[in-house]
Amino acid sequence: MMEKALLPGLTLPELENYVKALGEPGYRARQISEWLKKGAGFEDMRNLPGSLLDVLRGSAIAQPASILSRQRSRIDGTEKYLFSLQGDHTVEGVLMRYRHGLTLCLSTQVGCRMGCAFCASTLGGKLRDLRAGEMVGMATLINRLCQPERVHNIVLMGSGEPLDNYDEVLRFLNLITSPDGLNIGARRISLSTCGLPEEMRRLAREGLPVTLSVSLHAPNDTVRRFLMPIAHRVSMAQLLSACRDYAQVTRRRVVFEYALIHGVNAAVDQARELARHLAGMLCHVNLIPLNDVPERDLRAATPQEVAGFRQALENAGISATVRREMGADISGACGQLRAQYLKNPVGPMWKETSP
Ligand code: SF4
Repeated sequence: MMEKALLPGLTLPELENYVKALGEPGYRARQISEWLKKGAGFEDMRNLPGSLLDVLRGSAIAQPASILSRQRSRIDGTEKYLFSLQGDHTVEGVLMRYRHGLTLCLSTQVGCRMGCAFCASTLGGKLRDLRAGEMVGMATLINRLCQPERVHNIVLMGSGEPLDNYDEVLRFLNLITSPDGLNIGARRISLSTCGLPEEMRRLAREGLPVTLSVSLHAPNDTVRRFLMPIAHRVSMAQLLSACRDYAQVTRRRVVFEYALIHGVNAAVDQARELARHLAGMLCHVNLIPLNDVPERDLRAATPQEVAGFRQALENAGISATVRREMGADISGACGQLRAQYLKNPVGPMWKETSP
């Protein structure tokens, strides 16, 4: 059987070709595109003829994502979603309320094959890549739900390594920044990677100045190899060289993510070592107080360790902030909602949690 086309994954010219191939006038593409931008399904497209809708239902999908569960934090309004996708797959998404607007965190793969020790998303490996149309579908669905507000920023930091799904992620970036789509500026998008130098350099040349957020999490190769298997293939020197190139080509500062883990990477000496590596680079360090990951026996650094680490970086002239914990009452580590659901599927649910 032929696979159905994912309409949110098509550009407007591609959609035009698609409707023309069905014997319809090209202007129908614009009508469909306006609906897709609103996260609509075929049932909403009331200005299209019934005959066209019948054909479309047989050959295409308008909204590839649906919401299986939605939890809302009573502390700060953060919302955590579990999406259902084709093939009985599930991925998570998080909507955070910052002063600079609503920020949506999306996944790029079902699971992940990178194996980072602190990450629940990788426990079952990678099941499949997400398609651009699925990522656009999740974004438009959430944008629709948060009206009259809108999604202002997107971070690709959910499950998956975005650069391990390069072509579909690039297509997503082009669609989501397009005036025909949600029109979210590239500068309001962050892409988080565990550090694949070749793909980072390729991305720098795409002309999409997204913020590159690099999961560093270590002051040297030894600690990084303990936490992140990718470090066996890519040394810190190779990674930081690609980061310098990215900053130079895009003129965007690179953000380094650093989850502070008690007894592993949170000592003041390690902060000084990190600062020596980053000296002179256009960059910022985002310190993350890790949520405990019981599956991996990793514990969060203490508040004193977090403060001391940050101070040591700043003393060495490296800009650093501590990430505010969002949705502390609902989140846990990334991937935990999906893990809970896989253990105990309960069907659609809405839950508001108390601190
Ligand atoms: S932190 Fe990111 S790259 Fe590492 S295993 Fe988790 S999802 Fe994959």
